[in-house]
Amino acid sequence: MLQPAAIDGLAFARSAATLQGRLGLESLPRLAQSGCSASVLDFVLKGEINERGRPGLRLVVDGSVRLECQRCLDSLDLPLHLVAELQFAASDEEIGAADDDAERILAGREMSITALVEDEVLLALPMVPKHERCGAAMNVESGAQVSAFQALAALKKLNK
Ligand SMILES: [Zn+2]
Repeated sequence: MLQPAAIDGLAFARSAATLQGRLGLESLPRLAQSGCSASVLDFVLKGEINERGRPGLRLVVDGSVRLECQRCLDSLDLPLHLVAELQFAASDEEIGAADDDAERILAGREMSITALVEDEVLLALPMVPKHERCGAAMNVESGAQVSAFQALAALKKLNK
């Protein structure tokens, strides 16, 4: 599927346009620099006027990235699902002065789609990636494992 590399932000929002595609690591150099050794990311980018009446983008990313577990240094496949609502701002001052928690970005005439996806994925990556059940930690943390199972058992009882 042929698609543009960049969008005109405000026009994209006002026309409620949609773009979707798949990005591999080869198109995401900053992700590679931050320690990812593989990734497949499907994205859907939609232009919208949000509930405040402001133009913006809604970005949904699904996929996974391969990182290195910082405990055992083995590879770690991390599934990713993220939804970002980005409200357009006209200037950096507007972004700085905003007092709500809406995520804002500068509207541009040529906004790179891969950069938008990459920014959000980088924000979603853990600072210190670790296996949820890391082989290197099993012996040390067996106590914690037991209590996690007990918590699960308790939940199952509640659901019955
Ligand atoms: Zn590990």
